[in-house]
Amino acid sequence: MTAPSAPAAVLIDGIGSLVTNDPALGEGPLGEVADAALIVEGGRVAWVGPSARAPRADVRVDAAGRCVIPGFVDSHSHIVFAGDRSREFAARMSGRPYEAGGIRTTVAATRAAGDADLLGNATRLLREAHAQGTTTLEVKSGYGLSVTDEERSLRIAGRVTDEVTFLGAHVVPPEYAEDPAGYVDLVTGPMLDACAPHARWIDVFCERGAFDEEASRRVLTAGQERGLLARVHGNQLGPGPGVRLAVEVGAASVDHCTHLAPEDVDALAQSAEGGEGTVATLLPGVDFSTRQPYPDARALLDAGAAVALAGDCNPGSCFTSSMAFCIALAVREMRMTPDEALRAATVGGARALRRTDVGHLGVGARADFALLDAPNHIYLAYRPGVPQVAAVWKDGELVSGRP
Ligand SMILES: [Zn+2]
Repeated sequence: MTAPSAPAAVLIDGIGSLVTNDPALGEGPLGEVADAALIVEGGRVAWVGPSARAPRADVRVDAAGRCVIPGFVDSHSHIVFAGDRSREFAARMSGRPYEAGGIRTTVAATRAAGDADLLGNATRLLREAHAQGTTTLEVKSGYGLSVTDEERSLRIAGRVTDEVTFLGAHVVPPEYAEDPAGYVDLVTGPMLDACAPHARWIDVFCERGAFDEEASRRVLTAGQERGLLARVHGNQLGPGPGVRLAVEVGAASVDHCTHLAPEDVDALAQSAEGGEGTVATLLPGVDFSTRQPYPDARALLDAGAAVALAGDCNPGSCFTSSMAFCIALAVREMRMTPDEALRAATVGGARALRRTDVGHLGVGARADFALLDAPNHIYLAYRPGVPQVAAVWKDGELVSGRP
């Protein structure tokens, strides 16, 4: 008998294909193990290997030949918001271009919303992400853009995730339209004072129509001086300094990378050589939903850059929480192989968040994983748009579905 206080060991066996992302444990870069089993204890992976050699455990779950993958690590989202921009999407699909200014619509709705509504919406979207296999989700502020509204956005984000990012420098709010430099003073001064205690990361939208190179550098270095780690939105709407600035300040990730010059690719590849470096996080759902070209993932991968895939769930430029959809886009539209796309959506996202405890299923990793209604992970891209996540565990607890 197990004492009631001791966490039960759970054996998941009969796994047709287990993706560990640890080449030492199995075949290829995904470390795939056929006819595999996994033991979870105390919220961590305690044992991985062939089903036939699995030790006993308190509880047994039969995967019945299906596939198990590490939970998706979605390193980019903006789920603390209120309001709806479906009509803006419809207008865009009828030919109106996407501009950064649309963010201000969400800012007005978010400022007008109560805390309970913002938390309720964020919680609903987190559950939606869990149900689709995401077990780590970064969440940004950036629709408050005042000291009080950014601070409360971060407190709400902290209720749904540990990966909280201060994005006061998302766009310049309307009340500072005539004084953008004054807004940068606010973000790097009183707003940072109020927000730094509630965040792990600082981010800036380095783009024409948002913040230029000099303002972006000020924001990032001010955050770093307060102990925050840097990440950047860059090179989304056109070529620009975002990628090189991210590498220069040692940001963990530069996100979007839709418009890259050869020097940007080189800078990212060089930065990846040392280990940590700056990850190129690609957000193909945004390019899909804004009818932009897709980033040149092949150039990045072939040059040796570290690549992550993330969802960028937000009400304006990409309202999806489906990492499987992003994988399908990466494979079909960006010529990533199914293996590369799955790695980018799991261990790639973990690297973009400087995490080594998630994104893989080696012994000691967090027991964050998804059971797919599919014999292997290729089905994620092979059956686009089809729900294939049967059950999801986070920290060893079932958080969605039924095995
Ligand atoms: Zn974003």
